[in-house]
Amino acid sequence: MAKIEKDSKKKFGDLKNPLLVSVRSGARVSMPGMMDTILNLGLNDKTVLALANKTSNMRFAKDSYRRFIQMYANVVMGVENYHFEELIENFKLTKGVLLDTELDENDWDGLIVDFKNIVKEKKKKEFPQNVFEQLSGAISAVFLSWESNRAKVYRKLNQIPSQWGTAVNVQSMVFGNMGEDCATGVVFTRNPSNGKKEIYGEYLINAQGEDVVAGTRTPQYITKKARIQSGSKESSMEELMPKVFNQLIFFLNLLEKHYKDMQDVEFTVENNKLWILQTRSGKRTAKSAVKIAVDMVKEKLISKKDAVLRIDPNSLDGLLHPTLDENTKINVIAKGLPASPGAVSGKVVFSSDEAERLNSMMQYTILVRVETSPEDIHGMHAAKGILTARGGMTSHAAVVARGMGRPCVSGSSEIDIDYEKKIFKTKDVQIKEGQIITIDGSTGRIILGEVKTVKPEISGDFSNLMKWADSFRKLKIRTNSETSLDTKTAREFGAEGIGLCRTEHMFFDEERILLVREMILSKSKEDRKIALLKLLPHQKKDFIEIFKIMNGLPVTVRLLDPPLHEFLPKSEKEIKDVSVSLNLDTKEIESRISELHEQNPMLGHRGCRLGISFPEIYEMQCRAIFEALVKCKNKKYKSIIPEIMIPLVSTEAEINLMKNLVIKIAKEVQQKNKIKLNYLIGTMIELPRAAIKAKDIAKHADFFSFGTNDLTQTTFGISRDDSEKFLNDYIENKIFDIDPFVSIDDGVGDLIEIATIRGRKQNKKLKLGICGEHGGDPKSIHFCSKIGLDYVSCSPYRVPIARLAAAQAQLKK
Ligand code: PEP
Ligand code: MG
Repeated sequence: MAKIEKDSKKKFGDLKNPLLVSVRSGARVSMPGMMDTILNLGLNDKTVLALANKTSNMRFAKDSYRRFIQMYANVVMGVENYHFEELIENFKLTKGVLLDTELDENDWDGLIVDFKNIVKEKKKKEFPQNVFEQLSGAISAVFLSWESNRAKVYRKLNQIPSQWGTAVNVQSMVFGNMGEDCATGVVFTRNPSNGKKEIYGEYLINAQGEDVVAGTRTPQYITKKARIQSGSKESSMEELMPKVFNQLIFFLNLLEKHYKDMQDVEFTVENNKLWILQTRSGKRTAKSAVKIAVDMVKEKLISKKDAVLRIDPNSLDGLLHPTLDENTKINVIAKGLPASPGAVSGKVVFSSDEAERLNSMMQYTILVRVETSPEDIHGMHAAKGILTARGGMTSHAAVVARGMGRPCVSGSSEIDIDYEKKIFKTKDVQIKEGQIITIDGSTGRIILGEVKTVKPEISGDFSNLMKWADSFRKLKIRTNSETSLDTKTAREFGAEGIGLCRTEHMFFDEERILLVREMILSKSKEDRKIALLKLLPHQKKDFIEIFKIMNGLPVTVRLLDPPLHEFLPKSEKEIKDVSVSLNLDTKEIESRISELHEQNPMLGHRGCRLGISFPEIYEMQCRAIFEALVKCKNKKYKSIIPEIMIPLVSTEAEINLMKNLVIKIAKEVQQKNKIKLNYLIGTMIELPRAAIKAKDIAKHADFFSFGTNDLTQTTFGISRDDSEKFLNDYIENKIFDIDPFVSIDDGVGDLIEIATIRGRKQNKKLKLGICGEHGGDPKSIHFCSKIGLDYVSCSPYRVPIARLAAAQAQLKK
């Protein structure tokens, strides 16, 4: 204190020029709002008058004192805040005013007496007048606030070790409100929204920090350039206080060089003297984070490694989708959940067929459904955006939309859909089919009419950063894709292969679903083979296209996985349509539907079990793959090595049977075409039993791909973050909704590790990857890197995120 007194030329508790201090926490990471702070400490019945004298501002001094009593009594002495708030409110009522600013020095005088009485009444002791007693009380309280409940919860959520503890800072108070040669402001060393290397900030003459934040006065610009750009007439700090401005610039440079990061700095000018109150790494948009990191490498301030480690991979998500042009005026008619990022406008349609019809006429649509189901896949593909009234962040609509990179707003309880009348209503408006709306999947807003969007700019900086990331990472990044559009997108984003091509998605196509149904409804194996023969050219064509785009990179094709009932018609009308098209009795169709009904679809007659019961289905699919390969070879496309993947295996016998089937078809196609084809055969590990039995299964597999979607469910896995959320939601009686981008759960992770070790023990060359949603989750990618998988596979739009996360995992190894 003696040193501060000497430096500030003020004295703690002095009756002429009193030193006031703030007492704040100083943990090694910022925990905004979680720890206690006490301001204006050092005021008492006497020093308040000295402060008034010194500042020639009685109201300010009295206001500061009552704030101090309130803060200290609350934080240090434990008097609840509402007692003080109540006093102020009652006083304002009596006086007939609305705002605190309408209270004058005499009003505060009265309230100070009341405040002190409250303390006495509640705590049975006087409010401390001794400034050193105040100081030690405040220091203890700030140390203790490390153990407050909210600090504990925050630490848990942000994985901050509790043994770190906190420091306590005692800092001299300075005042920016002691006249026209005083000011206060906040400044960033670079522009936090676009990352440009320019000073960015605001200040106010003759004001205190709070005034800048409270919005009672309009802050002015720091630099002349910013003032001119905005068209403001109010002088900038550069113009009004040139000397202090130059000092500020000097310190901003110094701070940035020292911390090697963009700084967010709070300052005060007290009688033309500059004080830096606080500096910390500034919050910034993803776009500016990338620019700043890349610029700082160019400026030789940080290394490429630092730059790669500095960007939060998840934040890139917002950069990869078109966003609303924030300069346009919008009319928000309802809100829902921000299920899949990006903004898009289109005509409202209520059925997938209509979306597809309009798409073929090159028209943009927004598919509006109460919920979506696998039957809507074609419509979701055809539509430019998806809006649902029900379902959470993991509803079918949300998951599929994210996979496709379609913007989606889900679970908007504010809209009421009437399929019959082809309208939806919100509180204020009614929207008819064909009317244009815009959805913003990044914020959940539903907007009337068309709104301009801005395309994602994968700028030079972004690709530089990605190149650096690629140079550090060992994990390969593949994508989950089955359409040429997604495959192209993924390649543009840097995918190095396909890790999962779900062939059933090719079956849902409108042109093919009838053939698929014909196949399923066939009465004999022979009829089924005929129907399959009609499907063959379609599958083959899809594979040729994908193989061509992948240009020599590996492609994992998964044979049919879902239970057959998913492909059958559901509504009465659909059943009738199918009966007409296939010339079948509706009764027959209905009885087949009930035959195929699954009591437990997830563990029922699906995956390789389906392949074992109906080998002709898998045979057709293998033929399509190999014949596509032959075609590609003949056309001299760069040859790819397909990896044929058998789903849902849990025993050695299953993979053995299916492997022989694949080999048989490969031989046939090779002999017929007199050509040698290279291919691999492997399996998904998506059942606990498969993970445990990995050694036996690996005898027959060239590769394993961890299907963590099924594996999470069959292991009853939830991530650690989620168990916390689960608990909170449970307490609050909310429905539990799992975020698909949660990390691999402990139990699931154990199974993956067991399977990795056992599988590799049997087959040293076993290729290992992951293709569940976790393949695009940075934390899970760290796990995959740690246990030594070869690749992760994720949806096209998450490929850059995975590239960055894989590099970070390697650098942190
Ligand atoms: C999985 O289970 O993780 C997987 C990728 O398969 P699907 O999501 O198609 O069941
Ligand atoms: Mg699966």
